[in-house]
Amino acid sequence: MNTQELFVLPDGVITVSYIVATVLFILALGGLSNQETARRGNWYGIAGMAIALLATVFGKVSQNYDLLIVALLIGGTIGIILARRVQMTQMPELVAVLHSLVGLAAVAVGFASFMDPDKKFTGVDLTIHDIETYLGVLIGAVTFSGSIIAFGKLSGRMSGKPLTLPGRHWFNLALLIAAIWFGREFVMQSAAGGGLDSLIIMTAIALVFGVHMVMAIGGADMPVVVSMLNSYSGWAAAATGFMLGNDLLIVTGALVGSSGAILSYIMCRAMNRKFLSVIAGGFGTGGGTVAAGTGEDQGEVVAIEAHEVAALLADAKEVMIIPGYGMAVAQAQHTVHEIARVLRDKKVNVRFGIHPVAGRMPGHMNVLLAEARVPYDIVFEMDEINDDFPDVDVSVVIGANDIVNPSAQTDPNSPIAGMPVLECWKGKTTIVLKRSMATGYAGVQNPLFFKENTRMLFGDAKDTLDEVFKAL
Ligand code: NDP
Repeated sequence: MNTQELFVLPDGVITVSYIVATVLFILALGGLSNQETARRGNWYGIAGMAIALLATVFGKVSQNYDLLIVALLIGGTIGIILARRVQMTQMPELVAVLHSLVGLAAVAVGFASFMDPDKKFTGVDLTIHDIETYLGVLIGAVTFSGSIIAFGKLSGRMSGKPLTLPGRHWFNLALLIAAIWFGREFVMQSAAGGGLDSLIIMTAIALVFGVHMVMAIGGADMPVVVSMLNSYSGWAAAATGFMLGNDLLIVTGALVGSSGAILSYIMCRAMNRKFLSVIAGGFGTGGGTVAAGTGEDQGEVVAIEAHEVAALLADAKEVMIIPGYGMAVAQAQHTVHEIARVLRDKKVNVRFGIHPVAGRMPGHMNVLLAEARVPYDIVFEMDEINDDFPDVDVSVVIGANDIVNPSAQTDPNSPIAGMPVLECWKGKTTIVLKRSMATGYAGVQNPLFFKENTRMLFGDAKDTLDEVFKAL
């Protein structure tokens, strides 16, 4: 017996391992849907992935272990270094990069599978395999280039402003028609022993489409794009599963694809957007008011000192804390928790109001607050508390901007028009913590800062909250 075959697991063991991994992935998704069970959900996911990897390495692979070990070592080392180094604020960018790698893998597997000299498909099987390959490369290439642009926008390396080319919808339509036409060519040429040219041309088309689609999306619509690319990466993985005849990859890809699609739908609802409008791109741009809104003279703002904030909070009965991206930047969540604890000890009713797109990734604020061990029962979704603001004495907006911008309701030309926002201005006093009068992610000025009952506490949120905490 060849020594390498010693490692090969019997088919039955692989099948059982794959079923166990699938169940664990489903449990992981279930667990991740709730903060209290999220940690357990993560462990299910880790266990499922470990089983899937072991079963694949020892069951499906029968040669070239040396290459595999080198690849696993390189990939594993990069993964560990990235995971250790990444700041919470950089997580969305990291996720975008990881999505791009799934897309790239689907493209690479598609080309390898098409050019495999030992390929044994003929007749209808060949046609089906060609269609799987074509779709896999198509989705993979769109995911790859779209995710790279998303990475650029999320990391601030590229402007968040939408690129709205004239006739962009026609351009997209032309790309779609070309992709379908080359698909037909590819399948026909492949039956006659060719097809590589068509596959390469379609890959180029798909790459251009991915770039154009994400470039056209306005700042405030990025959350939908991030979850949509997440979904695409799942479908790309499922297509890879079809190409390789790997059931686990098909199921896992479909799980990621469908959960990403559901998340996109939820995000669209949260943003009051139509899914198709977002992916068609260039919507929510308000005809270029992004730049126009920034410099408008809206009146005077009133600044406040940390000790005055402490006094207001200590006198309040109802306090609503609204965290945003700036809290993540300042890493102020632990101080926020301390302040909430002191106030709760003084019998102040402290609640947290979380906007669905606060921060830079779905669930961003919930993760930070959970890390700081803020009790889950005082953390509320926007829909649960938005009607309560008239009874709130003090709202503390910590590094949030777009999610508390009243112009979403009042200015139909705003890029965030129609997006539901936390209506903190309806409370008695709103305190906004930020460093300057700079705009938020969508690039629009915020009339909240100029309201009579708003006070601005300028500075890094961690520093100013530390002062508030001391004064309390
Ligand atoms: P915004 O980006 O609108 O505003 C954040 C504010 O935080 C800025 O105005 C900034 O003002 C302030 N800030 C930054 N650093 C600090 C600091 N160290 N201390 C104090 N303040 C600070 O964030 P929101 O959370 O309000 O809204 C999220 C936005 O991001 C939405 O437009 C959403 O569409 C978008 N988005 C969300 C994603 C998601 O999945 N959640 C993904 C991609 C985009 P200053 O510079 O003056 O301090």
